[in-house]
Amino acid sequence: MRRYSVFAIAREAMRGHRGWPEQWASPEPKKRYDVIIVGAGGHGLGTAYYLAKEHGITNVAVLEKGWLGGGNTGRNTTIIRSNYLYDESAGIYDHAVRLWDGLSQDLNYNVMYSPRGVMMLAHNVHDVQVFKRHIHANRLNGVDNEWLTPEEAKAYCPPLNISRNARYPVMGAALQRRGGTARHDAVAWGYARAASARGVDIIQNCEVTGINRGPDGAVTGVETTRGTIGAAKVGVVAAGHSSVLMQMAGVQVPLESYPLQALVSEPVKPVFPCVVMSNTVHAYISQSDKGELVIGAGTDQYTSYSQTGGLHIIQHTLDAIVEMFPMFTRMKMLRSWGGIVDVTPDRSPILAKTPVKGLYVNCGWGTGGFKATPSSAHVFAHTIARDEPHRINAPFTLERFRGGRLIDEAAAAAVAH
Ligand SMILES: Cc1cc2nc3c(=O)[nH]c(=O)nc-3n(C[C@H](O)[C@H](O)[C@H](O)COP(=O)(O)OP(=O)(O)OC[C@H]3O[C@@H](n4cnc5c(N)ncnc54)[C@H](O)[C@@H]3O)c2cc1C
Repeated sequence: MRRYSVFAIAREAMRGHRGWPEQWASPEPKKRYDVIIVGAGGHGLGTAYYLAKEHGITNVAVLEKGWLGGGNTGRNTTIIRSNYLYDESAGIYDHAVRLWDGLSQDLNYNVMYSPRGVMMLAHNVHDVQVFKRHIHANRLNGVDNEWLTPEEAKAYCPPLNISRNARYPVMGAALQRRGGTARHDAVAWGYARAASARGVDIIQNCEVTGINRGPDGAVTGVETTRGTIGAAKVGVVAAGHSSVLMQMAGVQVPLESYPLQALVSEPVKPVFPCVVMSNTVHAYISQSDKGELVIGAGTDQYTSYSQTGGLHIIQHTLDAIVEMFPMFTRMKMLRSWGGIVDVTPDRSPILAKTPVKGLYVNCGWGTGGFKATPSSAHVFAHTIARDEPHRINAPFTLERFRGGRLIDEAAAAAVAH
């Protein structure tokens, strides 16, 4: 793999940028691999990368029914934070923040990680109590989080309306300064390029239509739209379609799939310095480096596999946005879209072995898995390579829904479902 550097850019500038090689190879599928990963989102591509880099397993295929990064990875609002409530969550989400910090250097790919601070607004007494509880719990786990008065919140984010007459008055905010954003496509592309360079086959336009099992019940491979492919280990990382895939192997997972929407405005000069989230009104906002306001909305009330969404949800979100930030009243919205999020009963993910030998699942990230991409991939690779969970993902089992050891993060999820 040719390294990206300032010298490479200068050299290519001199010769009209004609010498850049393809970022990743597009091979034909082989008959057999050691490991197959289903789903080329950030989590799947990252898993393949860490399998190769940290465990020396390079005979790996990542199978993707569409184009890589075209699922939720390329549709999300890219908010990164680790201010969840429970110890288990602090473990996995803060591991991610630490990995984000050096990810561009590790991948030799600028993922544009920007720790500009994530501020969560409290609009009522319940919000104030919940956020203060989170702040204390976070600090006990070494995760930064601090309480701001309405005036301090406005000083951190000047466009914020803190008028007491507002329909959603701001009673304070929880600020995680290490939180921020990254460029979603670059994360998928960076992992794809680095995995491909280590020998991983990334096969796009290859839908998995069946999971094959031998007489002993163990996984033997998958059926795809490009033929049968063998493997003793299969990792399913298919976000909103995880339950569909797991059913192919006869495994039930407690997931509901909902459309979640986002939209962007026309681009403007830098006006919005941080990320602001309001869980109560289901609106969150930041500004991309291109200048667009990136706005996240709530989930549809009903389950669906339609990657669109209802206009009424966007309208509700924009109502809230212009009330909280009156200066955006005359902004034009450019485009909106939806993704299918996979929601578990306790709003925490499942990263685990399954009852089927050789079948592993990484799902249930719901409305908030982008932030965890590096850590999820890192510990899932460990789980597949060693056939046992990493200590960080050990609590995120499938069995917890049978035994009752839930990790209830409903209050910390950005979007109530
Ligand atoms: C609108 C929206 C906003 C969001 N905002 C945030 C946010 O601000 N912060 C945050 O942390 N998270 C956010 N999320 C959640 C986040 O996007 C996801 O949790 C995360 O991207 C999941 O990554 P993934 O790699 O698991 O899934 P994906 O990127 O969806 O990858 C799964 C892949 O599996 C493929 N696939 C499915 N079925 C098959 C099959 N049968 N065969 C082959 N391939 C298959 C899909 O095509 C897809 O490419 C948001 C989500 C949405 C939709």
